Amino acid sequence: MADRVRIYEVGPRDGLQNEATAVPLEAKLRYIELLVAAGLREVEASSFVAPKAIPQLADADDLLPRLPASSGVRFPVLIPNMRGMERAEAAGAQALAVFTAATDAFTERNIGMTVAASLEAFSPVLARAADLGWWRRGYVSTAFGCPYTGAVAPRRAVEVALRLLDLGVDEVCFGDTIGVGVPNQVQALVDASMAAGIPLERIAFHFHDTRGTALANVLAGLAAGIRCFDASAGGTGGCPYAPRAAGNLATEDLVYLLDASGYDHGVDLAGVLAAARYITQVLGRPLASKVGQAGGWDPATGAATARA
Ligand code: MG
Repeated sequence: MADRVRIYEVGPRDGLQNEATAVPLEAKLRYIELLVAAGLREVEASSFVAPKAIPQLADADDLLPRLPASSGVRFPVLIPNMRGMERAEAAGAQALAVFTAATDAFTERNIGMTVAASLEAFSPVLARAADLGWWRRGYVSTAFGCPYTGAVAPRRAVEVALRLLDLGVDEVCFGDTIGVGVPNQVQALVDASMAAGIPLERIAFHFHDTRGTALANVLAGLAAGIRCFDASAGGTGGCPYAPRAAGNLATEDLVYLLDASGYDHGVDLAGVLAAARYITQVLGRPLASKVGQAGGWDPATGAATARA
């Protein structure tokens, strides 16, 4: 099934964590319901970091037990340490993500420790999750560039990915945290991963559209054999390193590209747009994604589809 692509939805976690407006619990649940109704089968739901650190996601303990009981949907949660793991277990989580980066300068400013120290903190979390049979993902942020140290060599991102795989993650996700990456870097990172023995099916990419390169990078990933991409319905999140700029690739933009290119992914564009419109309304701002503005397109009639 080489043409089957997984769309990993990050809106409720990565998107909402970076929005200034705190979204009420009921609205988060509605957003997630709409995403599941659109066919998304992997929805990163929240984060069990200290509530003071990320107040936008402080309601994770209340959100998790109320997630839709839809079979076949994975709701990973971000967990930084054993305290977070205990909370996530109590709330009924069954899948997790851990978050580190390719550069110490970034993790030190973001999570207050070096990359090596972050991996040490994840070790018992990932061991416990393995005992419980949870699915596990590891993020390598700043894989394409760091806001504090500049260019990042692919081998450095791959070294961190290998450490995460050693600690038992099922999948590593390379993040273009500041949206500076271009397609030949995607190819270089895949080449370096393969040279290090990382199977393609254990690699995902998290692109930001900050400089308009996210879909071009997806195409480079597809051409290199990658079949999992992160996106956020409504393009929520923005870019903390470039005020007013785009951050997460919008799920609706990704779905349009994959549909029109003939990839199978199981997600309905009109459904994603419903979720995107809903959450941007809650956030009190316009839906800025390209497909959010233009709608889809029906090749049978030539008409735009799923417009507001
Ligand atoms: Mg992001």
